[in-house]
Amino acid sequence: MAAKDNAKASTVLNKDDLIVVGGAGGFIAGALVRYFHDQGFTRIRAIDKKPLPEWYQRTPGVECLCLDLSEEDNCKRACEDAVEVYNLAADMGGMGFIERFRIECLRSILINTHMVEAAYRAGAQRYFFSSSACAYNTDLQKDPNVRALKESDAYPAMAERGYGWEKLVSEMFCQEYWHERGMKTAIARFHNVYGPFGTWDGGREKAPAALCRKVIECKDTGVDEVVIWGDGHQTRSFMYIDDCTLGIDMIMHSEDLIAVPINLGSDYLISINDLMSLAEKIGGVTLKHKHDLDAPKGVAGRNSDNTFIQQVLGWAPDTTLEDGLTKTYQWIEQQYNDRKAGKRTVS
Ligand code: NAD
Repeated sequence: MAAKDNAKASTVLNKDDLIVVGGAGGFIAGALVRYFHDQGFTRIRAIDKKPLPEWYQRTPGVECLCLDLSEEDNCKRACEDAVEVYNLAADMGGMGFIERFRIECLRSILINTHMVEAAYRAGAQRYFFSSSACAYNTDLQKDPNVRALKESDAYPAMAERGYGWEKLVSEMFCQEYWHERGMKTAIARFHNVYGPFGTWDGGREKAPAALCRKVIECKDTGVDEVVIWGDGHQTRSFMYIDDCTLGIDMIMHSEDLIAVPINLGSDYLISINDLMSLAEKIGGVTLKHKHDLDAPKGVAGRNSDNTFIQQVLGWAPDTTLEDGLTKTYQWIEQQYNDRKAGKRTVS
C-alpha cells in the first residue's frame, strides 16, 4: 500500500468539523495546526497555556485559546463540540530539561488525564496522544550501537525517569478509553523531532537545533571550538517535522491502530559527533570539538524500528537528515540574526 492510500483527516472529516489541538503554542502542535489549516479545515481550535505573543507560530483564521490544560474545567472548555482532539501539550524539553525537571514532566499526567476525559464527554470521535521513545525500557538503550526499538520493547517497563513514566501511564489511559468506553484513541511514540519553529535556545532545545545554533554562534563570534555534551558517541535518530505531521494524521485515522502505540520516528541512526559535523558542513565551517563529560547526555543509543509502521501504513518518515537539517539551520540562522537586530524570535 502507498502512503497516499491511507485514511487521513481530509478523507474522513468534513472541512467544518472542529479539530482541537492542545499545546499549539509549541513546536509540533503549532505545525499540526498549520498542516490542517493548509488542507482547508475551517474550524481549528488551538490551545496553549503560554500567552499568545509567546506562541512559536500562529496560523491566521485559527481560534487560539490561552488555557492551562492541567485543569479540568479548561479541558472541558477546550473540547466543547470537538470532533477530533490532538493532545500534544506537555511540559518538556531536550535532555537538559527532562533530566533536571522530572516533577514538571510527571505533572503532565494531569493534562492527558483531563483532556481524554473531556474529549470523551464531549463526544469526540477520535483522540490523539503524543507519547515518546522515552517510554521505552532504558535497559535496552545502554549501547550506542543500539538495536532499534520496537513497540513491544516498552514492557517490561523501565522508562526514562519522570518524563518516560508519564508517557507510559498516559498511553495506558488512552488504551482504556478505547477498551472500556469505546472512544477511538491513537498513540504515537515520537522519536526526536526537529525542524523550523522548534526551540533553538534557552535550555529546552533538542540536539539538532542546539548544534546548529552552536555552529552559527561560532561563526558569528569567530570562535573555532564547539562544546558537545557527553563524549558525542551517543546515537539518536531524528525526524523532520513534516514527516511528523503527516504521520500523526495517518496514525490517527488508521482503523488498525486504535489504542495501539506505534513508533513515529526516523530509523537513520547518527552519533552526536557526526550530527555536529553535518551542522558544520551545512554552515561551511570546521570546528574543534570539546566534550563536556558532565553535561546531560541521556541514554547511550536510541533508534526507531519502523517495521510495524511500514507494515500498517506502507510508509515511514523519509526526509533525509541533510535536507531537514539544512532547512532547520537556515531558519535558526535567520532567528539568530533577527534576535541580534532586536526583533522577536521563537526562543
Ligand atoms: P513544545 O514544548 O514545543 O510544545 C509543548 C507545548 O505544550 C508548549 O507550548 C507548552 O506551553 C504547552 N503546555 C505545557 N503545559 C501545558 C498546559 N498545562 N496547558 C496547555 N499547554 C501546555 O514541545 P513539542 O516538541 O512540540 O512536543 C509536543 C509533544 O510531543 C509533547 O507531548 C512531547 O512530549 C512530545 N514529544 C516530542 C518530541 C520532540 O522531539 N519534540 C519527542 C517525543 C515526544
